[in-house]
Amino acid sequence: MKLKERVALITGAAAGIGQATARKFASEGATLILCDRSAEAVQREASSLTAEGHRAAAYTLDVTDRAGIDAVVQDVKGRFGRIDILVNNAGITQDARLARMTEDQFDAVIDVNLKGVFHCSQAVADTMLEQQRGVILNASSVVGIYGNFGQTNYAASKFGVIGFTKTWARELGPKGIRVNAVCPGFIETDILKTMPPKVLDGLRDACWQRRLGTPAEIANVYAFLASDDASYINGAAIEVSGGISL
Ligand code: NAD
Repeated sequence: MKLKERVALITGAAAGIGQATARKFASEGATLILCDRSAEAVQREASSLTAEGHRAAAYTLDVTDRAGIDAVVQDVKGRFGRIDILVNNAGITQDARLARMTEDQFDAVIDVNLKGVFHCSQAVADTMLEQQRGVILNASSVVGIYGNFGQTNYAASKFGVIGFTKTWARELGPKGIRVNAVCPGFIETDILKTMPPKVLDGLRDACWQRRLGTPAEIANVYAFLASDDASYINGAAIEVSGGISL
């Protein structure tokens, strides 16, 4: 039970990697604050965790809505007294080659994947500073290290998330707050549904484990980084990709 008595807020917690991370954190004893823009799905997830005996609360939250984020943080502080862990997991793709990418596509991805991480982290940082303790974990991607065809907006957002991580690790590290990023390779979730099967086959071939990853394999890394086992890891961007970049 490595996260016992920790209060963990996870964005995009209703599906995919966020859902798997919530389940892993619950199994390690954390109290879960599940946030997602999908109201029904996040409520269902929280109910299913509480039915299994875990402590979980659901909030309908869009990470582009700063007033909404501030309201959730205030409510969580009132109900649970603290926020120990923030996982900035919510993310979207809207792919197109540079020549065809619209400004709307560019802005939508930057607003959620980059500005959303800024809003949530800034909203939670004061609480962590008061506590003189906290962990912020950011969802980047291998695409945030190496770039990817057709993902100008997504790659920029995920590179930016690594920049946030290294900057906040410097600013907040001396105050007892660790900040790290996880860079998954290609993981079997809904976000890959827009990719043609041929492209997915190519990604499997390019990976030195010859398969896509599972959400649980990313959740395990978040759980490690959130725990005291990672007490001297700060400002890292950890690739979890089956070696796809080798
Ligand atoms: P997913 O699409 O399966 O789930 C994303 C969740 O985020 C959904 O529940 C969705 O409702 C929620 N969400 C989307 N926009 C939101 C918003 N504005 N506010 C609040 N919630 C929002 O995605 P996933 O594959 O689990 O990805 C999770 C994170 O991991 C993302 O940041 C993604 O970029 C990153 N990532 C995923 C992969 C992959 O291959 N799946 C690889 C690298 C990085």
